[in-house]
Formats: sequence, C-alpha cells, structure tokens
Amino acid sequence: MAKKRVILIFPAALTEEALVYKLVRDYQLAINILRAKITPGEEGRLVMEISNSTEKAIERGLDYLRSHGVLVEELGHEIRIDQDSCIDCGACTGVCLSDALSISAPDWKLKFDKEKCILCELCVSACPTRSIKVVF
Ligand code: SF4
Ligand code: SF4
Repeated sequence: MAKKRVILIFPAALTEEALVYKLVRDYQLAINILRAKITPGEEGRLVMEISNSTEKAIERGLDYLRSHGVLVEELGHEIRIDQDSCIDCGACTGVCLSDALSISAPDWKLKFDKEKCILCELCVSACPTRSIKVVF
C-alpha cells in the first residue's frame, strides 16, 4: 500500500469546492484527514494522509488538485523521541490529542504510535527533558 502525507493549501475561492470528495470518488484514494482549518472565504489548510495501492494513483489525484489551484506540500518531517533521555514522566501524553503518545500498565513506559501522530508538535515544548524532536 502506497501512502503519502501532505499539506493542502486551498485559496479562499476554493474552500467550498468538493475537491477532496472527488479524490475519493474519482481517483479511488483513501483519505485520512489529520488536521483541518477551513473557514469559508479564507485560505484553508488540510493535513492528510492519502493511500492507494499505487503511488501513481496518488500522484494523479494530487495533480488533479494542483490543476485546480491547490498548493500541495509533502510532509517531510516527523517526530522522534530520544528513549535514552526520556524519563517516562507522561507530560507529553497530556497534550497529545491524537493519542499517539501513551503510558500504561504494566511497564508505564512511554509508547509512540507514529501512525496516529498528526504532527501538531505540541509535545515538543511539553517535554521537560527535551527528548522530543522534530526531524526533517
Ligand atoms: S506531534 Fe502532536 S500528535 Fe504527534 S505525538 Fe506530538 S502531540 Fe502527539
Ligand atoms: S514528556 Fe518527555 S520525558 Fe516525559 S514521557 Fe514524554 S518524552 Fe518522556
């Protein structure tokens, strides 16, 4: 399965168009919206993960968006946790709205589920030991 995480920036005139719906219907892409900021009449932003059995199909869908004036940026960063300096205090889990970070029994060690991470970066400043970094 091919996957791509992208930021889509919609010009104000396009925020009410059903472009993402057409990605699903006409290009058979599976869409997982990670973050969205859409206000009618203003520039809109969507962070999403797109998947399909082939990378070519994803590219066709992204080309469709570009041809309609949507700016497509590929996400080139990720969250890394330094397990050596992490003290499993749990402070980062309190700010992680997607449940990508968790601590639970029996070992009470920090666990990071990269698939759930929406790259909001809230955990970075919440960590007292600076164990969380954004890596490009
Ligand atoms: S970047 Fe956001 S979603 Fe990802 S682990 Fe940190 S707080 Fe959770
Ligand atoms: S806040 Fe930092 S030290 Fe505490 S559990 Fe999270 S990564 Fe580890």
